[in-house]
Parts: sequence; C-alpha cells; structure tokens
Amino acid sequence: DKIKKGLQKTSDAVSRSLDAVFAGFVTIDDDLLEELEEALILSDVGAANAAKIVMEVERRAQRQNVTSALELRYVLKDTLLDMMLDNQPLDVSGKPAVVLVIGVNGVGKTTSIGKLAARYVGEGKKVMLAAADTFRAAAADQLEIWAKRAGADIVRHGEGADPAAVVFDSISAAKARGSDVIIIDTAGRLHNKANLMNELAKIDRVIARELPDASRETLLVLDATTGQNAVHQAEEFNKVAALTGIVLTKLDGTAKGGIVIAISAGLGVPVKLVGVGEGLDDLVDFDRSAFLEAVLP
Ligand code: GDP
Repeated sequence: DKIKKGLQKTSDAVSRSLDAVFAGFVTIDDDLLEELEEALILSDVGAANAAKIVMEVERRAQRQNVTSALELRYVLKDTLLDMMLDNQPLDVSGKPAVVLVIGVNGVGKTTSIGKLAARYVGEGKKVMLAAADTFRAAAADQLEIWAKRAGADIVRHGEGADPAAVVFDSISAAKARGSDVIIIDTAGRLHNKANLMNELAKIDRVIARELPDASRETLLVLDATTGQNAVHQAEEFNKVAALTGIVLTKLDGTAKGGIVIAISAGLGVPVKLVGVGEGLDDLVDFDRSAFLEAVLP
C-alpha cells in the first residue's frame, strides 16, 4: 500500500502514457512498438533497456499469437516481471548484522539510515549507528539527530577521523551492549575513487576481522528523482564496492518510476528498499509485483 502511494505520480504519468499507446492502435505493428519504446524511455527506463524490453515484448507476442494492441499490456507486464530481479529483503539475521550504507550527499542516505534504524528498533532490536562519514562534521550531527529520534545508539568521532576506526569502535560498543544491527554511514565521494575504494576496503577488513560470521549488506542509496544520473552513480559505485542492494529514495517525488526497472533489470543489483516520503515509516521493502500493479494496473 505504501509502495502504491509512493508511486502515485509514476502511476498517473506512466500508466496514462502506456494506456495511450495501447489504446491508440488496434493491432500490433512497428508504429505501436516504436511508441511503446518512447513511452518507456520517457519513464526513465533507459534507452538500451527500453529497446531490450520492446524486443522481448514483440518476441513473446509472436510466440503467444497475441495480435491485439490492448492485450499487449499483459505481455509487457509479464516481460517486466521476468526482467526484474526477485524481491530480496535485507538480511539482518546475524547477531550483530552489519549494514554498510554508501551514496553521494543529498540522495537521502542519512534519512534512510534513520528510517531503517527506527524500523529495527520498532521490531525490538538494539541498533548501533556508526558515523563513519567523517568527511563533514554535519553528517555525524545529522545522524545523531536520527539516532535519538529512532532510539538507536551511535558511535562518532571528530571530523576527519579515520572511518575504519569509527567502525572498529562501533563494533566494540555493539558487542558490549549486545546490539542486533550495526548500520554504518560512510562518505560517498565518487570523484575520488581511489580514496573511496581504500576507505571501503579498510572498513571491510575491520568488519571481517572483528565480526567474521556477521551477515553483511552493502547498500547504495540513490535518489530516484535524478533519473539517469542515479543509474550512472549505480554503475560507478558497483565498480568499487560489492553492492548487495539498492535503496531508491524519493520515489514519491518522481513521475518517472521506470528508474526502478533501469536499476533492477539493467544493473543486476536488486532494489531492496524504496523511500516513499519523509516520515520515519516511509521506507519500505521493495516489491516488484506491487510496483508493476502501480505502473500497469
Ligand atoms: P544525505 O545527504 O544523503 O544524507 O541526504 P538526507 O538524508 O539529508 O536527505 C536529503 C533530503 O531528502 C531531506 O530533505 C530528506 O527529507 C529528503 N528525503 C530522503 N528520503 C526521501 C524520500 O523517500 N522521499 C522524500 N520525499 N524525501 C526524502
């Protein structure tokens, strides 16, 4: 339901434009397929993905002897369902579980960490936040506000401190307090890739040494309203970190929800969580069927 509400703008715009395509034709022909491809591109699916989707839709329509334009919407829905990765909730089964969060400034990283912390606290878990984005003092200040709001513990050092040292201390504190989940906020400076890689590798080594059996997630936070720019960030971060999932924020703020498909089908990293508002409970598990219901009801 939250996904549906968060996708209202997308639902209005994308389903209207797709319906217009299907209603504008009687039988399936090249013009229809071309208009379908354009509608998909306009929804931020990405040009290459749109071409791939339309080719697959055409192939399936032929194989299934579908000739009516209106029926093609069901072929499209099935195609998209198959191209998107399965729903994959976060794995926080270990005790403690470690969730490493990366992403550039402004995408909604801190907010998402706060929401995630609130979710686990609400489930009766003890949550430890690690302010390992030591590049800006304001980042740790923000995280501390969210820690208070969510009822989570936090470990922070001064500006410019070694992020791996913050992680080390947060693990020690989590062990001492019996925390269930450690969520690590890291700095995302894409323009300095070598530094970023070194920093992440160092953090990785600390976690592997201190918590060899912990379940691990490495999440990249992306802003859905930035369209192809978000896809580009995903591609770049995917080269420097072993991503286990994507958090796609501000889905409520875009009419171009096709970005979900661009990432899930195009990148091959599952969208695990979506942000659908600014409230504490506005971060939900991604569900591809709910998504497709909103886009192609
Ligand atoms: P950070 O710099 O990546 O840590 O970004 P912040 O967490 O500070 O978020 C930047 C802005 O995006 C804030 O105003 C948040 O309230 C807003 N924001 C984050 N997630 C969402 C979301 O899912 N929906 C909406 N509408 N706003 C969001």
